[in-house]
Amino acid sequence: MLFKTLPIMLLVTAFAYAQTVETTSTEEAPKTPLTYPLNPVVKKFCEQLDEKFKAYKWGEAHCEYFDWINVRKTNKGTPLIWTTFGEEKSKGAANTTLILCGVHGDEITPVKFCWDLMRELKSNHTFNNKMVVVAPVVSPDSFFIPRPTRTNAAGVDVNRNFPTADWRAEAHKRWKTNYRADKRKFPGPYAASEQETIFQMNLILRYKPNKVITVHAPLTMLDYDGPSLRAEAGKSAKELLEQMSKKSDGYKVSNYPIFPGSLGNWSGKEKHIPTYTLELPNSNPLETDKFWLLFKDAVIYAIEHPMKPTID
Ligand SMILES: [Zn+2]
Repeated sequence: MLFKTLPIMLLVTAFAYAQTVETTSTEEAPKTPLTYPLNPVVKKFCEQLDEKFKAYKWGEAHCEYFDWINVRKTNKGTPLIWTTFGEEKSKGAANTTLILCGVHGDEITPVKFCWDLMRELKSNHTFNNKMVVVAPVVSPDSFFIPRPTRTNAAGVDVNRNFPTADWRAEAHKRWKTNYRADKRKFPGPYAASEQETIFQMNLILRYKPNKVITVHAPLTMLDYDGPSLRAEAGKSAKELLEQMSKKSDGYKVSNYPIFPGSLGNWSGKEKHIPTYTLELPNSNPLETDKFWLLFKDAVIYAIEHPMKPTID
């Protein structure tokens, strides 16, 4: 009897597992974290991450310490994972912050910055009516390789690939004229062609964050996209921008231009979600402790800072 039913049981199990990791719809994303028992896909991710932590002398990552959620994979099969802290908006939390790191794989320091933040949130923080969503390695294929690259495995800059209104008319044109078709900034064959882009979009559509913080390097500035800072609607966003700068020793605030297909253009300009780009001073893995100390208060303040929801 057992021999007869075993293949069916295995088939059912395999199917259920495939459903868990292959689901592509935001709405069907698993609600329960997959870390325990450690999902084999996440386990492999954590092993790759451990290697990088060792190479950059960052100590133990303790990746399995966090509750990971995984729906989507890159075209190379690497899981795109995230973790959450606090209560989801649908359960009453009013203040959701989405934090993205490792969007460009050759920007090493942001990944550790997200890691330091996750540790802080897990061990020292209480969540009162708020939620924080952290995706620490948005573009894992370009971060995990021996010589990390800005673009993903398909050679696409996933911060030029969002389906903004100007993408079709402008993305390739501007790439050729302004950047002389620099391969590092290729916006992709079509808008939202990349899994890493869809991953970021779906986090925004699923959690409807009140604000987004994306961490890059090395432009040494804080940039803002979203509701006009001069209008009433942008008052709270402006206050946060000023406070973030103040709390990081007067870090430079710069109005960096938006690009066809950039996150700031899609979520800030088009979806009116205050979107902050924190550009760390450099990508030197040995300086991450310094950056955490410099920006810790700013990012914690941002998480605490309430803002009106802009999409529902
Ligand atoms: Zn970047």
